[in-house]
Amino acid sequence: MEFCKGVGPARSDLLKKELNIFTIGDLLMYFPFRYVDKTVFHKISDINENQPYVQIKGRIRKVEIAGMGRNARLVARLADETGEIELVWFNGVKWLKDKVQPGLDFIVFGKQTIFNGKLNITHPEIDTVNYDDTGESKRRFYPVYASTEKLKAKGLDSKGISKIVYKALEDAAGKITENLTGEIITKLNLVSREEAIFNIHYPHDNLSLKKAQGRLKFEELFFIQLRLVKLKLYRNKKISGFTFNSVGKYVNDFYHHVLPYNLTGAQKRVIKEIRRDMGSGQQMNRLLQGDVGSGKTVVALMCMLIALDNGYQACIMAPTEILATQHYNTIKNFLQQLGIHVKLLTGSTKSVERKKILESLINGETQILLGTHALIEEVVKFKSLGLAVIDEQHRFGVAQRAKLWEKGSFPPHILVMTATPIPRTLAMTLYGDLDVSVLDELPPGRKPVKTLHFGDSNRLKVFSFIREQIKTGRQVYIVYPLIHESETLDLKHLMEGYDAIVRDFPLPDYAVSIVHGQMKTKEKDYEMARFVKGETQIMVATTVIEVGVDVPNASVMIIENAERFGLSQLHQLRGRVGRGADQSFCLLMTSDKLSSDARARIGAMLETNDGFRIAELDLKLRGPGNIEGLQQSGITDLHIADLVADEKILRYARHVAMEMLERDPELESIGNKPVRDFIIKENKRKGSWGMIS
Ligand code: ADP
Ligand code: MG
Repeated sequence: MEFCKGVGPARSDLLKKELNIFTIGDLLMYFPFRYVDKTVFHKISDINENQPYVQIKGRIRKVEIAGMGRNARLVARLADETGEIELVWFNGVKWLKDKVQPGLDFIVFGKQTIFNGKLNITHPEIDTVNYDDTGESKRRFYPVYASTEKLKAKGLDSKGISKIVYKALEDAAGKITENLTGEIITKLNLVSREEAIFNIHYPHDNLSLKKAQGRLKFEELFFIQLRLVKLKLYRNKKISGFTFNSVGKYVNDFYHHVLPYNLTGAQKRVIKEIRRDMGSGQQMNRLLQGDVGSGKTVVALMCMLIALDNGYQACIMAPTEILATQHYNTIKNFLQQLGIHVKLLTGSTKSVERKKILESLINGETQILLGTHALIEEVVKFKSLGLAVIDEQHRFGVAQRAKLWEKGSFPPHILVMTATPIPRTLAMTLYGDLDVSVLDELPPGRKPVKTLHFGDSNRLKVFSFIREQIKTGRQVYIVYPLIHESETLDLKHLMEGYDAIVRDFPLPDYAVSIVHGQMKTKEKDYEMARFVKGETQIMVATTVIEVGVDVPNASVMIIENAERFGLSQLHQLRGRVGRGADQSFCLLMTSDKLSSDARARIGAMLETNDGFRIAELDLKLRGPGNIEGLQQSGITDLHIADLVADEKILRYARHVAMEMLERDPELESIGNKPVRDFIIKENKRKGSWGMIS
């Protein structure tokens, strides 16, 4: 970076630390987050509090420092031909006083608010009207860059950054190489890479800005998809897998003598898809999407039995101990009668037992292993692991998934199951290297869960409802969110809730269980088991019960402080009930006043039970940055594309990537050289293509 004019060692260091900008190339890829159109101005008399922001051209009338010491603030009155408005600064008062002087003209940009019944603008951005450092004044759009306090202190506020970008662009002219093929550029009518990068920083007009954005969004999504599709094709071609030819005794015995219900059409279809994969001679990498309660576990179980029938071992990795334990209990119950050896391995497995299990895995005696993260530790080795199932995947990173590959000399088939559906665009990006199966049917006889919303003032009604339900033999969950940063405070909150419940639902008529993250596994299991057996009617818990727990007789889910939960989480919790034949209920308890975001989430819950719809709404409400699993995947590194808004571009980018790799898998043709060269260059920079380049 020091090669760049205007950037000495100190600033260069800061750019690295604060913004991850190491090279001129990085700097050029640091895009403005918005633009100011310097030709459009509001008249002061037209301003009201509803505009998102305003830009005014006017003259400073009067400047004064109001308040004293720490409360000192600079107040300036700005006037145009229609009226006056107050500008207020609390910081940098001394410096601003010299700059903002009566009689001078400024362009002011900011968010107007009403204070004491009057409109004012606090901390506006200001510019002299004849701003002319770089000949920019002829331009219409000015870039605005995100900066940090530390950078600002070194003169790299938005304007400072725009100056060094401007210089970098001057230097880069003629040197920015194309990374897409001529064919794509022509077909999609894209601007060149160089033109796009110039115009994303300094667009001449709206059209050139739009074209630059379109090109750069496509490019960004295209290279992600190219990588994922390549990974997928590579595995299909090069990585042979164990071939499971036979459906044997285990599968047949289980299906005909053990399974207590008929499979749904969707379950049968998906099992067929998986069987075909596992019999194809290629390693399977498949994602199973299905709403809560759609019966993913039994699908996984049948597939594991296929592996066993072919002489291989199988495992399921779950995100929490409770869930791993529950899988263990269900599966052991089912399989004991068939003489199949099933073991459970978690963080709290005692070392003696652990040693035994590890040995039995190597000598092949243990056929199915259930567990948590403990399962991917290096010491865990199998004799012949044929299938690895990852349940509730969104808690696992892509890197953890890869570790399962190393469990044998040959990578096992891999089946990933999501806890709740994820939106298609996200699936395409997060799991773009996997084939997808969908369970789009719930087992028969389920009544949709009725969802109701109560404000805190209706608490008494809710309690009498609980009483009624328990009288008819049902069980009830009451879930508390993690609210505070500190676990102790959360626990206190939970314990207060618990105490209140116990007071209202006393022994001997009622028994209440409690489960939270800070209990020992043994205690947790004990409490869970009491609830499962029906010895307690109420389960007070934190979100540790969120995923997977299955107690068919529990038909009421009460979510306290529901406004604190994300939408997927609410849906996931609701999925804990509605598993038996009785009418189930989900009661969302919130404070009586709600933010508009919270209201939108609650509204979505009341509107639909469909997990796929919920997933789409969730992505829209939260944006991809907050979706679990994205952090590890690197997708939050997106510079410019947006997984919600740019769905069309994403689909197209994937399509183009597939077409390209199908025709030219190694990207060897002359036409594809720009793409190949760019990947090699990026590889050197980040090493992101790893093994497949
Ligand atoms: P999820 O997809 O959320 O993991 P589970 O596998 O836990 O769902 O299944 C939810 C419940 O539905 C379990 O109690 C399971 O026994 C039951 N179930 C699964 N498949 C069927 C089916 N075909 N018919 C009836 N009940 C089923
Ligand atoms: Mg499940």
